[in-house]
Amino acid sequence: MTFLLPITGSFAQPAAENPTVAMIEAAFAHHGLDWRYLNVEVAPADLGDAVRGARAMGWRGFNCSIPHKVAVIDHLDGLGQSAQIIGAVNTIVRDGDRLIGENTDGRGFVAALRRVVDPQGKAVVLFGAGGAARAVAVEMALAGAARITIVNRSAARGQAVADLLNSRTEAQAYYRPWTPRFAVAQDTDIVIHATSVGLFPDVDAMPDLDTDSLTPAMVVADGIHNPPHTRLLQAAQARGCRTVDGLAMLVQQGVIGIKYWTGVDVDPQVMRKALNDLGL
Ligand code: NDP
Repeated sequence: MTFLLPITGSFAQPAAENPTVAMIEAAFAHHGLDWRYLNVEVAPADLGDAVRGARAMGWRGFNCSIPHKVAVIDHLDGLGQSAQIIGAVNTIVRDGDRLIGENTDGRGFVAALRRVVDPQGKAVVLFGAGGAARAVAVEMALAGAARITIVNRSAARGQAVADLLNSRTEAQAYYRPWTPRFAVAQDTDIVIHATSVGLFPDVDAMPDLDTDSLTPAMVVADGIHNPPHTRLLQAAQARGCRTVDGLAMLVQQGVIGIKYWTGVDVDPQVMRKALNDLGL
């Protein structure tokens, strides 16, 4: 018997509305892992002290969310492949005395998508070019997507993601301006929405795309996890598309994080149920 338990957690600001702790602790309990996950509010000026504290206390790893995903890199000892390309970290893994930064935003998305379609060789249209979209774009390219068209309101951010993919991955990437009622090309296999449009409380907001251009051959995925059944996904289902929701992405990130920290493959259904029980 030991009273010294392995600690993981999250550093973010704000932290109060982040439900990750509930799904991670549900998975720990279900799998008999006597670990803890502490949801901690950390201001930007305190991030260095927080990471030094986690090191000193032997934390086994932790998540970083907004606004720390880029700043935390200065306090780490190394980065995984995709975190290096993306330039942002959301999961820190202890390797002996070293803290290594990984990015599971995009990997969680790809894991959720793979349950419906394999990205290998596919033509993708991706709406958005913020932190989440950038991570999703890089992981889709590393998963073998052949062509990725980035559609974003700000041309500079959209072009920067296309340039990143073309210079650092094998995928062919293009930027297209987000014109009103954007029509998705008919040879598209996978449509991904990764902007913040439709996020609670603006649940009636809908990304400005021509849903008549969606065909039953397309898979449509939305990064918004609250609510999971977005207006976009409802419209896509009405058009006969298969869909992937943002809750699946969040859950798969948790699965990957726990695997990094504990080595255990946890059941995503347990985590999804924990979130559903919270009303998500
Ligand atoms: P960022 O602030 O980095 O990026 C926001 C993106 O949304 C940009 O592309 C921005 O375009 C676009 N955008 C915002 N408002 C509008 C609008 N009115 N019309 C068109 N485009 C708009 O945010 P993140 O990338 O970090 O997060 C984006 C979303 O992804 C959030 O809703 C977040 O909850 C979700 N997310 C989900 C995760 C999950 O596990 N399910 C994980 C991480 C994020 P522009 O460049 O022109 O400003």
